[in-house]
Amino acid sequence: MLRHLRSNRNAAALVRGIFNFYGDTVHFTEDASLPKSDYQLDYDSDPPVWRQAVVRLQLGTAHVRESLAHELLHLDTFRRRFPTYRGIEANEGLKPYKDDLIRLVTELRNLVDHEIIQSDFLALGYSEKLFARFAPPAVDYEKEAKKVEASGPNPVNFSVWCLEYSKNWNTSRLCGYPQAAEWAESVRHWGSRVHPDLPAVIAGMHQWLEKGEFRDPTTFIAAFGDLLQLMRLPRVVGWFALEARLAKPPVIWLLDESEG
Ligand SMILES: [Zn+2]
Repeated sequence: MLRHLRSNRNAAALVRGIFNFYGDTVHFTEDASLPKSDYQLDYDSDPPVWRQAVVRLQLGTAHVRESLAHELLHLDTFRRRFPTYRGIEANEGLKPYKDDLIRLVTELRNLVDHEIIQSDFLALGYSEKLFARFAPPAVDYEKEAKKVEASGPNPVNFSVWCLEYSKNWNTSRLCGYPQAAEWAESVRHWGSRVHPDLPAVIAGMHQWLEKGEFRDPTTFIAAFGDLLQLMRLPRVVGWFALEARLAKPPVIWLLDESEG
């Protein structure tokens, strides 16, 4: 797996850092039949016990090295003491939408991670165009707005528009695709037909990004909480960080939510 990065001298420090931190609890698989590249953290929740980190690399693409570096940079955020969470706290009314909410929060966390790691990716010498997948929106926002207008928005619909905006906007800035900014604009335009307050919240999301408090592991929890609130997503709970131990795999370090 790591042979893909052998030609990149800059990536050596990244690879070494990952192995020093995760030891033999980091595992790799690679296959052309994988639908995409990704990573996963495995741990027991209660009591919290660290198991492993897994990177799955899709072969047969034009960006195998870049995809591997991208996933390693995600893992590296935990070495850098960025925390993660074990679940979401959905109130009674949102329970039927729990799966949707988990998916939205997971996607959002991934986008925030991308804000953090994109500059490291560029520092490895890779092109921004290959930082993340570039795909046109899966839905036509005009049609979607009309559909929602006709049926009435469900309780998670506002958050869905916010996330669509983030995805496109993130792609336009971090991957250098101006076209994605037009898609973001389309989200703002059509989404505000259903949710007139969407443009104000989007403005808040821009301010949030500018403030940049999510870039510091010690203020990440509070900052991520602010973003969830802005996008009307539920709180996440069970924050933890991975703590390095000399020549041993990391351990789970539970964090007080208020600690930030
Ligand atoms: Zn990613």
